[in-house]
Amino acid sequence: MSVTIEAALKQAAEHLECAQSPSARIDASVLLCHLLDKPSSYLFTWPDKTLTEQQLSGYQQLIKRRCQGEPVAYITGTREFWSLELDVEPSTLIPRPDTERLVELALEKITSACRSVLDLGTGTGAIALAIASENPGISVIGVDLRHEAVALATRNREKLKLNNASFLQSSWFDAVSTSTSQPFDVIVSNPPYIDPEDPHLSQGDVRFEPSSALTADDHGLADIRHICFYSPQFLSHEGWLLIEHGYDQGESVRELFLSAGFTEVETIKDYADLDRVTRGRYCHNK
Ligand code: GLN
Repeated sequence: MSVTIEAALKQAAEHLECAQSPSARIDASVLLCHLLDKPSSYLFTWPDKTLTEQQLSGYQQLIKRRCQGEPVAYITGTREFWSLELDVEPSTLIPRPDTERLVELALEKITSACRSVLDLGTGTGAIALAIASENPGISVIGVDLRHEAVALATRNREKLKLNNASFLQSSWFDAVSTSTSQPFDVIVSNPPYIDPEDPHLSQGDVRFEPSSALTADDHGLADIRHICFYSPQFLSHEGWLLIEHGYDQGESVRELFLSAGFTEVETIKDYADLDRVTRGRYCHNK
């Protein structure tokens, strides 16, 4: 039986809708493009082209995985972030559009006088690589607790040829003091910040992501507290710390920044109009 691209897409979207995928049609197209190794324009240009039996059964396998809830980015192994195509693996969080807001806000604080930026909990390297791509003249270091993440981020750096980024295995600042030259002009982080009891953890894509990248004790604030407390030791005079956090954590995170001695502390919203990033400046000679 010959099945055209159009028919395969329609059938896949129906299956995905039944399996409650929130983005059935897009998922169906992205997975077919991945299988055929073609851009999405190919699907619109050649809707009547028939798939080989092998392509069809390969496609059905991919759709089955998605119907079982597996995130599209883990199936295709890639995700676009800040117009960089990043490799993604189940050992790391899938980069989110929300985090592009953190990058934008960090870029506002990276002046021509800046020399170095630190990204804590880098995962795929998304934030570090986006900042490195916009600032070829500065050195960006990304650290992650998991060696799989460091290997993945390093691969992404090589693929994107961003030689001003480098990655290091470290639990937050632990290996930073001995392995890097400091201080940093800007420190950024998208740490784990979800309350381990949050019911959303049992729904959708996050079920497949590593909990070490998602959840933190103390209602999601434990790692943010640690970062706020230790950052001043690693920041240059008047350096900036920027942290992504949950929509309902703005006030608590501002308090953590203030009690660690930061000034000019403010919380900024994402494009869904939700509190998403808090930033503050540290002056050493107060
Ligand atoms: N923003 C992500 C979510 O709500 C969580 C990312 C994180 O914990 N750093 O799914």
